[in-house]
Amino acid sequence: YNHNLQRTEKLKIISDMAASIAHEVRNPLQVTRGFLQLLATRTDPKSKSYFDLATNELDRASDIITDYLTFARPEMDTVGVLNLSEELKKIEAMMTPLAAMHGGVIRFHAENDLFVIGNSSKFKQAFINMIKNSIEALGKDGWIEIKAIAQAGEVFVWIKDNGEGMDEEQLAKLGVPYFSTKSKGTGLGMMVTIRIIEVMQGTIVFRSEKGKGTEVTIRFPLADPEQAEQLPDELHA
Ligand code: ADP
Ligand code: MG
Repeated sequence: YNHNLQRTEKLKIISDMAASIAHEVRNPLQVTRGFLQLLATRTDPKSKSYFDLATNELDRASDIITDYLTFARPEMDTVGVLNLSEELKKIEAMMTPLAAMHGGVIRFHAENDLFVIGNSSKFKQAFINMIKNSIEALGKDGWIEIKAIAQAGEVFVWIKDNGEGMDEEQLAKLGVPYFSTKSKGTGLGMMVTIRIIEVMQGTIVFRSEKGKGTEVTIRFPLADPEQAEQLPDELHA
């Protein structure tokens, strides 16, 4: 009788269940979203805002499921060499409309061909979470600066904003599950993000000043695209 083994097996069952529930629930949410958007084009302008609200809430449900699932299963599904410059470019294009909705702009500069090892969808999840937080912190004349360079065998990424910032107490609570200062926040975003960066063998540091803004520095080991076949075992799921 081995108590530890039993516990590990139970955890495995829970994380497998979380993964399949997330998958099964996300599909009907997506289908519902599609039909709501179709209906929105066929309704009077007054009712359209209700469809938008419903769509937003569906997206929120999807995000919550994604964040919970990643924590239940932080190991990467398929790991490979990622072109971080290209990944960031896509994320920047995705997030620019949201920044504009909050009256802000994103400035983006990344050196070409910065290679890191990881899973593309987990990488996106982590960076979307951080950039979303920056956007949600913006006030008047808001800006977000995203920069990526290679230096001394490492890839450095900075996400800087001139948003509301955090005090010492808030900074200390970053990444603690359910810590949120937002009325509709989950307080799961940074917990999952920090976990993803860790699994990618990276580090993450937050610097912030209340009323001035926040700067996140993320570092990854620079990968050699030629070595894609020789990934260490522990990076495979
Ligand atoms: P949520 O966004 O759902 O609140 P997160 O884990 O993503 O949860 O973030 C936790 C808290 O950290 C936020 O509620 C906010 O108070 C603070 N925070 C994170 N990033 C920033 C940022 N760039 N600027 C200001 N506050 C931030
Ligand atoms: Mg968040």
